[in-house]
Amino acid sequence: MQYLTLNLRSRFPWLLGMSLFLFAACSTQEMDELKPVIPDETVPEAPSGANNYSRDVHIALGNPSNAQASSYYYWNYLMKKEQYALSYHSKRGAPNWVSWHLDPTWLGGASRSDYFRTDTSVPAEWYRVSSSDYKYTGFNRGHMCPSADRTYNSTDNSATFLMSNIIPQSPDNNQGPWASLEDYCRQLLDAGNELYIISGSYGSGGTGSNGYMKTIANGKVTVPNRIWKVIVVLPWGSNDVSRVKTSTRVIAVDMPNTQGIRLNTWQAYKTTVDAIESRMGYDLMSKVSASIQSVIESRVD
Ligand code: MN
Ligand code: MN
Repeated sequence: MQYLTLNLRSRFPWLLGMSLFLFAACSTQEMDELKPVIPDETVPEAPSGANNYSRDVHIALGNPSNAQASSYYYWNYLMKKEQYALSYHSKRGAPNWVSWHLDPTWLGGASRSDYFRTDTSVPAEWYRVSSSDYKYTGFNRGHMCPSADRTYNSTDNSATFLMSNIIPQSPDNNQGPWASLEDYCRQLLDAGNELYIISGSYGSGGTGSNGYMKTIANGKVTVPNRIWKVIVVLPWGSNDVSRVKTSTRVIAVDMPNTQGIRLNTWQAYKTTVDAIESRMGYDLMSKVSASIQSVIESRVD
């Protein structure tokens, strides 16, 4: 890039300025790690200012389990919030999946609310999980949509502490590779991307700091065996679904809900979207054309 710039500098001085801008936008480490997702010619303006989110943006790529907003669907109940969308499983006392859009409009100065609380929009005929259900269990109240992804204002941040966004997560998973991947997502944002993220869990039986458990809260909350996440990386722009191509970077991970993995990297748990789909019986990214899905869902990042 520098070579090109030097040769063209006399005739195209603006190229030098643009190259410097691109270098400034990425730290050296990010330059090494990232695929070149910033286009060469133009860098679109980053979204900024007030959130202009709509209730459907979080599942713009699709509703993977065809969740429905009717309490008949006690195993797959669709809940849409301003800040994220999810499928809730009333017998597991936890979400099947949570899906959210992450771009710079979601980030700001709000501090971590830590106000873990019952989600009273869970239908009244079901058990409503409370924060104290996790007390002394040895499991963290693990966010699916992370607190740090919703800091534009205190309302957004507080919404991530609803127990419908929380699963019993082993401390070493939550504070180890899982946290590293959450941080990495926000680095991708700083490098000029917007992300579609979906995260879920499956199976029963995990190991926390008090040992192995299949359930907590007198059986009302299932401890998952595995926790997964899929991240679709797009450069800033509009018409997001139509911009997902065979070259689009997709990160998929599937991690054990256990102790002893705190020092492991998130990269150790990379998998394919296809593997997650087949385990869950879902179709992720269903709004993307089948031919593109077949390429990006079978590729390990
Ligand atoms: Mn966490
Ligand atoms: Mn799919």
